[in-house]
Amino acid sequence: MLALVKPAPGPGLELREVPEPSIGINDVLIRVHRTGICGTDLHIEAWDPWAAATIRPPLIVGHEFVGEIAEIGSNVSDFRPGDLVSGEGHVVCGRCRHCLAGRRHLCARTVGLGVGRDGAFAEYVALPVTNVWHHWPGVDEEVAAIFDPFGNAVHTALAFPVLGEDVLVSGAGPIGLMATAIVRHAGARFIVVSEPNPVRRELAARMGATVVVDPRQRGFAEVMTELGMVEGFDVALEMSGNAGALRAAIAGMAHGGCVAILGIPTEEITLDMNQVVFKMLTLRGIYGREMYETWYKMTVMLQSGLDIRPAITHRFPFREHAAAFAAARSGDAGKVIMEWAS
Ligand code: NAD
Ligand code: ZN
Repeated sequence: MLALVKPAPGPGLELREVPEPSIGINDVLIRVHRTGICGTDLHIEAWDPWAAATIRPPLIVGHEFVGEIAEIGSNVSDFRPGDLVSGEGHVVCGRCRHCLAGRRHLCARTVGLGVGRDGAFAEYVALPVTNVWHHWPGVDEEVAAIFDPFGNAVHTALAFPVLGEDVLVSGAGPIGLMATAIVRHAGARFIVVSEPNPVRRELAARMGATVVVDPRQRGFAEVMTELGMVEGFDVALEMSGNAGALRAAIAGMAHGGCVAILGIPTEEITLDMNQVVFKMLTLRGIYGREMYETWYKMTVMLQSGLDIRPAITHRFPFREHAAAFAAARSGDAGKVIMEWAS
């Protein structure tokens, strides 16, 4: 089969012929239809310090995908060839305290698809059956392809109640864009999206932001006055990884406010803990998706009218992977999809 591979330490990826993955008795083999490009894939392609410390080539990259079951292991009974599925990209140990208690997203021995094991930018991918989500009828296949980052957005956006609340979204990358539509769907009052990139601010407005702000041009105090907000944000979703954005969010919170932090900082961040203490803020880190409550929530919100499709802006056949990666890296894109088969 063809797969997009990191062949050796160093920058770049190569589309090459590799053996089809073999499956164990509890695994399924999936024929990949569509995949989404994530920031993680860009880090691995560029071979930055994180990638150099984490990735052991050769490795097939990619973890956001939709496809159909091609083959099932002898121990698998509840899937059939042809079923439309996506994969949970965190393969957990199944044996630790949290896994046994059903809190699998807290497993400390998580292995990432396309990071610690061969991934989904390929014609076929293999996964344990416990990592497979069977899509409900009627799902849009492009949306299904990005259930992994959509799940990051849902996990973060629903970490705290947002009904009637004033919400700040810092960073309108693909995940911030989806989170904007989710908190709108979940009944937030005002949604302020902070994002330096004008293309992404425009997309955020389409996803349901009340106000979009360029953080270099305008402070939150002015926006709050304009909206008639009395005190500050009730909930903030940190989706930029930027130190200044996190500090600005904390400064903009109301007493008792809650900050869900998904963005991955590239360096240590110092915070004014006086703000956290005296405003009695809650800060919560978010990693991955809850298995499988987040997947259920994604599915039923789509059925009740949530539309995240405007966050998908580019599509490429997999042979044009270089152009697809360039579009994703440009920053002037929402989600970028690669098509493998249909
Ligand atoms: P992205 O890099 O496409 O989006 C980040 C956005 O933040 C960009 O549009 C950027 O312009 C914007 N930004 C930069 N400085 C800012 C500032 N000062 N204020 C406001 N916005 C600013 O990333 P994405 O794919 O949308 O992912 C969002 C974040 O979540 C990234 O940091 C990513 O690494 C992280 N992530 C975390 C998990 C997890 O499980 N915790 C999973 C996936 C992604
Ligand atoms: Zn575990």
